[in-house]
Amino acid sequence: MTSSRILLEELGARAAVCTACSLAATRNHVVFADGNPEADLMFVGEAPGSNEDLQGLPFVGAAGKLLDRLLGEIGIKREDVYIANVIKCRPPGNRDPRPEEIDACQDFLRMQLSLVDPRVVVTLGNVATKLLLKRDVGITRLRGQAYPWWNRQLVPTFHPAAALRGGDRVLEEMRQDFALVATLLRTPPAADPVTAAADPEQLGLFE
Ligand code: SF4
Repeated sequence: MTSSRILLEELGARAAVCTACSLAATRNHVVFADGNPEADLMFVGEAPGSNEDLQGLPFVGAAGKLLDRLLGEIGIKREDVYIANVIKCRPPGNRDPRPEEIDACQDFLRMQLSLVDPRVVVTLGNVATKLLLKRDVGITRLRGQAYPWWNRQLVPTFHPAAALRGGDRVLEEMRQDFALVATLLRTPPAADPVTAAADPEQLGLFE
């Protein structure tokens, strides 16, 4: 097993007993991640919903099925990508995560990004996009393009739950974003001498 896999397992074990914010009191399971810890493609969602909380896995409900479908349309299987959320425990009633909960939990995501070291990161929805991209602009305006990010490419798109609510237009725009992801994965990024050696964990990924 690679050292990254071992460190991710240790990190997951730490998360499983985490009580750093009040969500620990109402969760059934900590939802740490799913998929390939050595993936080139990593998804960052918002927070677990009720199905995820019950099963301890991210994106296993209707939104997860849509994510799997969109991945399948670009020829990628779920087990070939790494999937995590900004926060690891379900907010009661699926409310938005609070700033103090994001603060308490973000070191887990920071370490996951550093250890998986994907070439392409896809943020699903406003919460993940705002945290990683540091832009106070809604997802509707940010999506549709890739952003250079710590010597990687970041592609913001809608959360699949928004596509389930928003109908064909949102779904079609997600398809366009996934097609962009497929193109990026086929195209090796040019080495950037300034950022190639940057370690996102040490440089303060979310600061
Ligand atoms: Fe810990 Fe994150 Fe769960 Fe809060 S949401 S208890 S910080 S794992």
